[in-house]
Amino acid sequence: MTKPAQVMVVTPHPDDAELGAAGTVARWISEGKDVIYVVCTNGDKGTSDTNIKSEELARIREQEQLAAAKVLGVREVIFLGYPDQTLEDTPEFRKEIVRLIRMYQPETVVTVDPYRRYIWHRDHRITSQVTLDAIFPYARDLFAYPDLLEEGLQPHKVKEVLLWGSEDSNYRSNITETFDIKIAALRCHKSQVSSAPELEGWMRERAKMMAEGEDYELAEAFHQVEIWR
Ligand SMILES: [Zn+2]
Repeated sequence: MTKPAQVMVVTPHPDDAELGAAGTVARWISEGKDVIYVVCTNGDKGTSDTNIKSEELARIREQEQLAAAKVLGVREVIFLGYPDQTLEDTPEFRKEIVRLIRMYQPETVVTVDPYRRYIWHRDHRITSQVTLDAIFPYARDLFAYPDLLEEGLQPHKVKEVLLWGSEDSNYRSNITETFDIKIAALRCHKSQVSSAPELEGWMRERAKMMAEGEDYELAEAFHQVEIWR
């Protein structure tokens, strides 16, 4: 029997979750919540360095993601291993997410917003569309997957979804105390973020803008969908 986790983060590529939600993840963990990560692709196309091979990059990015998760205190990281830029809305992918939701029974699922207009990474769009479909109705409904039921994976109702990268945010999370941990986790993704000091300044400016009007300094912004109260 898998130990349940209150929060499941579903990320398209290694590093997306740190950019979008690591401050909030770190705060939840400091409050005693269990968080697990599901990383959909191996990020093997995320470079402009002609000296590196795709397989090597995938290995590096897995290690970077594990390091970042360790900094945050994430309990477990599950790699689905799809090649970068190949995600499709398939029954197989949907079922993989349903299986994990039923195994870990999260109250909250965090992923990227699929509904950004015009230019949006296809892997991001597909990851969150599939995740939202998996949450409702597939993870919830008894007979959606008779074989999962036979395996003992009962239906599960996710209570809430938080989407980062939204053009339509309606929920702010105070990350003032955990901003430094977010930056430390982001810096683990050495192949993606430069070690330049601008990173921290740029992220701080963004977090300040997201906290505008609040009585705290730094925030991450999400679109929140409450499904069950
Ligand atoms: Zn990405």
